Amino acid sequence: MKDDYIRIEGARVNNLKDIHLTIPRHSLCVITGLSGSGKSSLAFDTIHAEGQRRYLETLSSYARQYLGILQRPDVDHISGLSPIIAIEQKTTTRNPRSTVGTITEIYDFLRLLFARASIAYSPVTGKPMIRYTAEQMVALIAQQYKGKRCILLSPVVRGRKGHYRELLDQILKKGFLEVRIDGTITQITHNMMLDRYKSHFIEIVIDKLVPPSQEDADPALLARLRDSVNTALYHGDGSFAVLDPDTGKLDHFSKHLMCPESGLSFPEPAPHSFSFNSPQGACPTCKGLGYTTRIDLQKIIPDPALSIAQGGLDPFGKYRDTTLFQHLEGVAKKYGFSLHTPIKDIPEEGMDTLLYGSEELIYVKSSIGTHTITFSGLIHRMEQMSEQSEKRMAANDRYLEEVMCPECKGTRLNSTALQFRFADKNIAQLAAMDILPLLQWLKNVEDNISERQKKIASDILKELRDRLRFLLDVGLSYLSLNRSTRTLSGGESQRIRLATQIGSTLVNVLYILDEPSIGLHQRDNLKLIHAL
Ligand SMILES: [Zn+2]
Repeated sequence: MKDDYIRIEGARVNNLKDIHLTIPRHSLCVITGLSGSGKSSLAFDTIHAEGQRRYLETLSSYARQYLGILQRPDVDHISGLSPIIAIEQKTTTRNPRSTVGTITEIYDFLRLLFARASIAYSPVTGKPMIRYTAEQMVALIAQQYKGKRCILLSPVVRGRKGHYRELLDQILKKGFLEVRIDGTITQITHNMMLDRYKSHFIEIVIDKLVPPSQEDADPALLARLRDSVNTALYHGDGSFAVLDPDTGKLDHFSKHLMCPESGLSFPEPAPHSFSFNSPQGACPTCKGLGYTTRIDLQKIIPDPALSIAQGGLDPFGKYRDTTLFQHLEGVAKKYGFSLHTPIKDIPEEGMDTLLYGSEELIYVKSSIGTHTITFSGLIHRMEQMSEQSEKRMAANDRYLEEVMCPECKGTRLNSTALQFRFADKNIAQLAAMDILPLLQWLKNVEDNISERQKKIASDILKELRDRLRFLLDVGLSYLSLNRSTRTLSGGESQRIRLATQIGSTLVNVLYILDEPSIGLHQRDNLKLIHAL
């Protein structure tokens, strides 16, 4: 009987007036009251604080020394507490790398899905990329080249500079007599060297042969083809090409994912290949942020009617007797204006020099006489100051604007990651969908994938659907997984964390929520209560 209630006796935290109460367990309880009446003092500062303190006391003294001492809340006695998780309203995180998908871990499951069950498409031909087994390669070559001459080539250098004397020597020592250098087959000679300042393509000539057809195969010939394919794979690090010497046509074969027409190959996909927080997956231009920053001229010059002396260049303020303004005076003189000219009337060439600098010599008058400088421009100066101090960087942030990354178009991922598709959608397209349509898409997706994909993906798909449904249950159907958490309201981020908690399968936990329905549509209130 005792266990069915949380009993609190003599709570005096903050403005609580020595109150006694019992709260039924295993049920949804609401604490209401005017603001300042002590709701939070009771829920967070008493119940949550005591629960946390008791939990920490069970840790070893070694662990506790890192956690600091938690004050015992001013209360006579609390009984019937279970482990407590408090979900407050403060916005989760300002980290630009965190999205609805990452904090709910739903994006992690999508990455897993893509690493295991997606199909790569060649950016050159748009057709699926293929990976072959050695046996499949033997069969294909036998079929395509039966009775025709062909040459097996293992790539060892792909478009890199160097003279490659040691490499060519090693190839010769391994028993190969010929290489194809930049498209021409040549005998290797001792101390052979290439032009070290040019980029080269070097392939080892593994074998020249006439493959037998599979049906009337001479076993000896077929065995030779099989041997040569394995040798070619070994020296080409899993890839090789077959050259038709009559037409010059190349066919590429690889154990890795590869476009058979162009020979372009992708690394084996892994979950990190689809993470914008990993160098393997992130767009190289924006480093996975989805946006780049550039200086916003309108913020630097908010009012072009002002002159420089009047403080028209916002980051630099009004005229002072400093080196910078002496330099600006020099620039003004050179281009025929003064620091009292309204900025809108400054000639274009002068304005360009002010902002971006020039190589022209500028005469600067100062207390110690006249000297010459070249002016590197105000924008460059702002960048330099940002690098020198964090404080300046924060100040200069005001003059920056975020623009969508031109390379990844805001998807945060590199072009390789986007070539992988599951049921014809890439991971960025899925992350951009609102949660409701995404869930509907996932419900039907098994009709559009192969049996093999179904087998691999069914567990992951189920997990994805469950977790998305939790978000739906707390009324967040309108969010997308790629939504940056920086732009979420306090109520939204609280409900996301609530959904994540429902997803975890802890039992007997006491949850403390702070106005979970804030900012929620009336219609969704019922849903939320149901979820709780
Ligand atoms: Zn980018």
